[in-house]
Parts: sequence; structure tokens; C-alpha cells
Amino acid sequence: MKNYFPAKLNNLSQCIEEGSNTNYLFGGLLIFACTHSTEIINMKQEDINQLNQTLAKANAEEILKKAATLFHGKISFASSLGFEDQIITHFIAKNNLPISIFTLDTGRLFPETYDLIDRTVAKYKLNIEVYFPDYRQLEKMVSEKGINLFYDSIENRKMCCGIRKTEPLKRALQNLDAWITGLRKEQAVTRTHMKAIEWDAMHDLVKINPLINWTAEEVETFVRSEGIPYNKLHDKGFPSIGCQPCTRAIQPGEDIRAGRWWWEQPEQKECGLHKS
Ligand code: SF4
Repeated sequence: MKNYFPAKLNNLSQCIEEGSNTNYLFGGLLIFACTHSTEIINMKQEDINQLNQTLAKANAEEILKKAATLFHGKISFASSLGFEDQIITHFIAKNNLPISIFTLDTGRLFPETYDLIDRTVAKYKLNIEVYFPDYRQLEKMVSEKGINLFYDSIENRKMCCGIRKTEPLKRALQNLDAWITGLRKEQAVTRTHMKAIEWDAMHDLVKINPLINWTAEEVETFVRSEGIPYNKLHDKGFPSIGCQPCTRAIQPGEDIRAGRWWWEQPEQKECGLHKS
């Protein structure tokens, strides 16, 4: 934890607008220290709400710029390389924002996804840090449950997501104050309540979802019109792309998440990365 001289924050919105605050994590609370003032402010739900109000009219690019200022050096973007994530990478690169980017390689991704990592790095000349599962946990799981255990039960599927995604994510988020995702409300029934800025109690961090209110159409139109590199599977009926054995193409009219863990009920379709 950093040393700091706490300051009084008379007007959080003003300080956020001016980018004159810095922030610290203390005992699980995000503490804002403002150059204007002399008292600590603990950033809890009330302050998250206020930040959401302040940024209510901000577009995704503005939200990212503000987040980069607020959480300077302690913020990362978790990219799963979907359409949405590619837009966020594009904004980070275009504005040269000090936000690191990482992705999770579960070991079961599509070849097209690896190809996209390469093309994205080449186009934007940036680094995408890749996190892998712990091989010991993985070997134990596969030896005890089989290589395709996820089809056998929800419990098995969650175990696989836990080892291949949740644990590496936890490592990637260590020592951060905030993380960025490409989540949108429209994507799933489990996401309709989400806001642009949230307190992520599971990871003890602020979570920033700059595209939360974008529609699927807006996302796709933007990617194509800006020439942003995207996963070729999107052109083959895959609106949402995860691991190869757990993702299928959808038919016209089907829900956009219908191709993910299609053997499960909609309310069960989260991998544990974005529980609220
Ligand atoms: Fe395992 Fe499927 Fe989850 Fe990927 S999406 S981690 S293969 S259960």
C-alpha cells in the first residue's frame, strides 16, 4: 500500500472531473485522496453511484480516459478478444492510455482466437499479457474427471472454468485497484443489472464496463467501420466466443449467448469471472 497524506474531498464530482484525485486501496476500500482537500473518502457503494452519475453522459472513450487517470498504473483491461474487447483495445491504443491489457489462455481456445491475438498485437503495437492455468491443478482435474468433463455436470463445468479462468484471472488482478471489461447488459440475463462502474466485491476492485449500454448492432457496426481486427468466427455465426468445446454457432433469431454452454439454463451461464 502506498504512503499518502489523505485529503478532504468536498466535491467528489469536481475532483473526478478535474482528475485531481489519486486513489488507494486500504482494507478493501478504495480511498480517494484529493489534492484540494484534507480528509479521507472511502469509496463505497455511495461513491460508486456518484461516479456513475458523473459519467452518465460520458461515452466509452471518455470513461476509459477518466479511468486511466483515476487509477493510474493500477488498472488493467481483461480482454477475451470478442468484438467488444477489440473496441476497448482500439480505444486504449488510439489514445495511448496507460492501461495494461491481458487475456486468459484456457488451453481450449479456437485457433482463430490465437490468430487474433497476433493480429491485434501487430496492428496496435502493444503487448497483450497472456495468463495460463496452473498446470498442477489442470493435470489433477483432467486425470480425475476426464478431458471433456464440462459436459458431464454443471459442477464439472464450473470446476473447469474455475481452474482454467477464475484462478488465472485472480492472479492477473493482483495488485490492481480497478479492471476493465467488455461486458454489456444485453449479453445475458445475468448482466441486465450491471452499471458502467461497479464495486467488484469478489475481487475487491472497482470494475469498469465502458460498453455496458452498447447494443450488439452498435458494437459490430463500430468494429467494421473502424477497421478493428476481429475474430473470424464472428462471420460464421459466433456472436460470443469462448472455449472451443463450450461454444457453438447460433441460428438467426437465437439469443446471442445461446451458443455458450448451450446445454445449460441461461441463468447458469456465467464462468465465475463476473459474478456480482
Ligand atoms: Fe472449461 Fe468450457 Fe469453461 Fe473453457 S468454457 S474453462 S473449456 S468449462
